[in-house]
Amino acid sequence: MKSSNVYFTGTGAVPGIAIGRAYVIPKKNIPLSLRHIEPHEVEFEIKRFEAAIEKIFNHLESVRAKIDPQHRDPGHIIEAQQMMLRDDDLHKSVTSAVTEKLVNVEWALKLALERWEAIFAGVEDDYLRERFADIHHLINNLQRQLSGDGCQRFDPPPDAVVIADEASAAETIQLGRSAISALITQRGGRTSHAVIIAKAFEIPMVVGVKAITEVVGTGDLVLVDGLEGIIIINPDVKLVQEYRLRMHKIFAREQSLISASAEPAVTLDGRNLHIFANVDFVDEVEAAQSHGAEGIGLYRTEFLFIANIKRALDEEMHYNDARALMERWGQGAITIRTFDLGSDKYPLGEYPDKEPNPALGMRSIRLSLANRTMFKRQLRGILRAAIQFPAIKLRIMFPLVSSFEEFLMAKEVYWEAYQELENEGHELPENIRLGTMIELPSAAMQADVLATECDFFSIGSNDLIQYSLAVDRNNDAVSHLYDSLNPGVLRMIRHVIESGEAAGIPVAICGDMATNPIPALLLMGMGIKVFSMPPSSIPHIKRIMRAVEYGAVRLLTETALTLRTSSEIEELFREQLSEILTEEEEPTPS
Ligand code: PEP
Ligand code: MG
Repeated sequence: MKSSNVYFTGTGAVPGIAIGRAYVIPKKNIPLSLRHIEPHEVEFEIKRFEAAIEKIFNHLESVRAKIDPQHRDPGHIIEAQQMMLRDDDLHKSVTSAVTEKLVNVEWALKLALERWEAIFAGVEDDYLRERFADIHHLINNLQRQLSGDGCQRFDPPPDAVVIADEASAAETIQLGRSAISALITQRGGRTSHAVIIAKAFEIPMVVGVKAITEVVGTGDLVLVDGLEGIIIINPDVKLVQEYRLRMHKIFAREQSLISASAEPAVTLDGRNLHIFANVDFVDEVEAAQSHGAEGIGLYRTEFLFIANIKRALDEEMHYNDARALMERWGQGAITIRTFDLGSDKYPLGEYPDKEPNPALGMRSIRLSLANRTMFKRQLRGILRAAIQFPAIKLRIMFPLVSSFEEFLMAKEVYWEAYQELENEGHELPENIRLGTMIELPSAAMQADVLATECDFFSIGSNDLIQYSLAVDRNNDAVSHLYDSLNPGVLRMIRHVIESGEAAGIPVAICGDMATNPIPALLLMGMGIKVFSMPPSSIPHIKRIMRAVEYGAVRLLTETALTLRTSSEIEELFREQLSEILTEEEEPTPS
């Protein structure tokens, strides 16, 4: 008999309560899972096999091209690996296992490996034994490629509670489109891009739930509390009733906040604040409108391309996307951020660990500057769209800028695109503003210099905190160290705000720091006026801003900035603003 009321806890990443049936996604790579396929799936599986071969072949080719011709041996080793990949015997044994035994290609590779193992078992010759080691390595590589190829079919029924070891941003998009009701992962941090996507789809999510896949089975009833980070497997009737009641209460409170969200965010003493929306997909514009956003403060352009990176070379894709965004928003401010791919935002089918340390690797603006053609096509697409919407106040910003030169290089590509379009006879709007995100300590500390060339700043606190504190935002093992109230981080932010003020350029915040009441108030106290956040957070933050006096918050912030630890800062705010903050800490959906 199944045991009931089995509790697990993790980190609540997206608030909200869900009750649904579990859909467990097996861990990637190991253990390798057998999947019996239907005859009509044979062709699909063989195509996956061939695509994996091509991918590894091309990867080896690029490695070979970089080898110094003086070093002949590595080149030959790679050629030998490429020949093995094209080996007829490998191809035949895998495709016939798929076709005859009706198994998935990963399993067919395992069967092929076992066959070779049996053949080589009696061989004493060292050289031949090494050849078997090569085959073993190659098959492992293929299995690894296949497990990360995005073709593993996640097909959860609508309303399922999906439970996985981890989820990438790209996979979370797939899951979001399947209308699942909650997502639970064994790994992952609270500000990862998978969480950002789950927020966009308003899917309650809990991360860092250790060993849950060892207990829960597909089909079990699961109750998820995304605020508290609680999961209950096979809850009894009483618990289900209790949580249903809570769900209704949350829903009612949320509705009343949403209905008040069109009101401006003015403090009790009359300071006007502006709350914008972070939008990851054009479809989210509606939520931004209904939740009281005054503008779009961050449009993340990369998610459209995450399923197929090749499309990023197509100027028309960028044009159509920007056009759709502007058309839906209608009029007012939109800030589009250029491509921010890399790190934990890798395209479907790529390995996250292809680079030794992807968070410090080829990502964001670096990737765009290294692929200038793609970058220029994106900028051209956006500019062409802007021509058609004179009522849109467009701002373009670059992600993860680390130095003044890097900003200048990005700006140069922008002006090249602009010039090209002008030469082609397009009449371009003149009032487009060009700015940078402040996401790296180097950019924060050089904000005064950057301000001489930027029209605006937008603080990306998710990355700024990650890189200042050396805390991977995707790693639950260090998530307790991810601290947005760290005095060092706050001082850096204050420097950015002061530099912006001195130069007379606007400074906004678009990182998730602004979605939490105390950090949001601190930012306000430091002088920020424009806050951009996921639509679902807007009604909550607006309510808080309307309930406080700016003068008092400013004084509190001044004191806070003299304190030595984040807990002292938090305590100070809690003591002074307990009533306003307590209400916000009632369970709320995302
Ligand atoms: C940030 O880093 O704060 C940010 C807004 O960008 P992203 O979350 O997309 O990295
Ligand atoms: Mg960022």
